[in-house]
Amino acid sequence: MDRIEGVLKEERVFYPSEEFRKQAHIQSEEEYERLYRESLEDPEGFWGRVASELHWFAPWQKVLEGDLPHPKWFVGGKTNLAYNALDRHVKTWRRNKAAIVWEGEPGEERVLTYYDLWREVQKFANVLKRLGVRKGDRVTIYLPMIPEAAIAMLACTRIGAVHSVVFGGFSANALAERIKDAEAKVLITADGGFRRGGIVPLKQNADEALKDAKSVEHVVVVRRTGEEVPWTPGRDHWWHELMDSVPDRCEAEPMEAEEPLFILYTSGSTGKPKGVLHTTGGYMTYVYYTTKLVFDLKDEDVYWCTADVGWITGHSYVVYGPLLNGATTVMYEGAPNWPEPDRFWQIVDKYGVTILYTAPTAIRSFMKWGEGWPNRHRLDTLRLLGSVGEPINPEAWLWYYHVIGKGRCPIVDTWWQTETGGIMITTLPGAHAMKPGHAGKPFFGVKPEILDSEHRPVENPEEGGHLCITRPWPSMLRTVWGDPERFIQQYFSQHPGVYFTGDGARRDKDGYYLIQGRVDDVLNVAGHRLGTMEIESALVAHPAVAEAAVVGRPDPVKGEAIVAFVTLKEGHVPSDALKDELKAHVAKVIGPIARPDEIRFTDALPKTRSGKIMRRLLRQIAAGEKEIKGDTSTLEDRSVVERLKEEA
Ligand code: ATP
Ligand code: MG
Repeated sequence: MDRIEGVLKEERVFYPSEEFRKQAHIQSEEEYERLYRESLEDPEGFWGRVASELHWFAPWQKVLEGDLPHPKWFVGGKTNLAYNALDRHVKTWRRNKAAIVWEGEPGEERVLTYYDLWREVQKFANVLKRLGVRKGDRVTIYLPMIPEAAIAMLACTRIGAVHSVVFGGFSANALAERIKDAEAKVLITADGGFRRGGIVPLKQNADEALKDAKSVEHVVVVRRTGEEVPWTPGRDHWWHELMDSVPDRCEAEPMEAEEPLFILYTSGSTGKPKGVLHTTGGYMTYVYYTTKLVFDLKDEDVYWCTADVGWITGHSYVVYGPLLNGATTVMYEGAPNWPEPDRFWQIVDKYGVTILYTAPTAIRSFMKWGEGWPNRHRLDTLRLLGSVGEPINPEAWLWYYHVIGKGRCPIVDTWWQTETGGIMITTLPGAHAMKPGHAGKPFFGVKPEILDSEHRPVENPEEGGHLCITRPWPSMLRTVWGDPERFIQQYFSQHPGVYFTGDGARRDKDGYYLIQGRVDDVLNVAGHRLGTMEIESALVAHPAVAEAAVVGRPDPVKGEAIVAFVTLKEGHVPSDALKDELKAHVAKVIGPIARPDEIRFTDALPKTRSGKIMRRLLRQIAAGEKEIKGDTSTLEDRSVVERLKEEA
């Protein structure tokens, strides 16, 4: 692959302050290197030591048995994630510490202490048992971002039921598909949820879904909006009524380390959603430890991850990771721009948030709305920032660093996937220098490799290739629910014997990884391989551009022509002159080879409901296809695609 000189070759490097470094869990690169080496040389000793920080009902006989694709972690060990997230803390001074600080979109506040949460979870565990849920049964959770979502998840975990959380923004159809695939016995939903001042009709969607998904015997409904909802007597039950009549003690079920914990369907940026299965002991251990070290989490922190519980980030880093560490985790129900574009900064100010973890799509929106909004609020409690979900363009990184972090807070750019369960590549905030656009180094126990199409490590890692993981790690997915062949086919067939992530990456001379985006999105222009991320970052670096998505269109001469879909910042108007300027700009920053053949202005890009650009749809639009093929159930706004087709 040809080396592209561009914005991402920029050498800007940032260091954590001495003050931050001195208080951090991991304080130097040497310490990181020593532990990293140890984690690869002696994974059993390393992970055994980490797992010992948690409670086990029965000790494991072996930390790691077997290899990819079917490793087993903590064989013979028995534990329970909810026990570790709650009971462990209520036995200590943390009993009355805030576990969840919640804010609803209309503005209500709710604080649950560890003791409150512990009791609520046990009550709901008893509710589930009363409804006939047994260990191993599947429970679908379709809720807004309210504490009941975390309570329901932990209650399942407590009794060994397997939860499948479906994002509350999904349609009836998407919900039905997921219920059917998991064969869920119980569905937990709400009368509705608040979003941008409107109401999401969750119960109505659920009823619609259940016409098609027949496995569900009982529906538990949280009263959130107070709206009238259709009701099926015998099947439907109010959450608060069930909770009134059950005891508040329910022992945690000792689970074998390899017993199923949850199923989560991936967001579907690339195709039909896959039911990723995670198991108990390895997931718990890895998520506990990554939360602690990557976010440098301390008892004094007020930690806020803005993800929805419907995504893996919500599972690992809103609910399980922070609670396993006895931290205070903030949950917010609504949109970042409701009622005004400063809602996030208001929340940071109001609760004294110290750690903020959000997504590039949100950061690019904040940039578009302007720094006037964050500047209205005190953000001086913040000490660490995080990013996840897509590559973060250096321009957005710098804005986040200066405008939100005031040049004081390290940023962790965390690369990982639903399938990996926890963060895989990142800097550790007290130990590493930061390079905007580069995720960083592998976390402990993670062995990445960049392979070429012949399955060999690329000769020059700076030129990029397929990002693979060559050793088992504790929180890896164990299978695709109900489809073990797809598990092998999807992840272990392209490069035999190793886990293929589907992403392209480069590694620089310091061992820092830069994620280039999905390999399916990488362009091939006149024999040069160009990452979409690189051209998009060049475009976003132009003062008029808010967001950009780049795709290839088949071209008889060049192989692929570069088509860029661009949204503009407020105050800028589309024009042919601007198109020419943007083309010239990309050619200047990256090189003539990357000059877009076509620029298309649009008011919005098609995204998944988790906020990721769906380039596979744009590829079809760029090629002028009339019918969009492939799964679009996770598309946030269907009308965006229709408009784009018309604009063509
Ligand atoms: P599907 O696999 O169904 O298409 P998805 O890949 O969007 O959906 P997730 O598991 O939520 O579902 O996302 C993981 C992907 O997100 C990664 O493979 C990568 O492409 C991207 N990603 C996540 N974090 C980062 C990051 N920090 N830098 C670059 N890319 C990231
Ligand atoms: Mg994926």
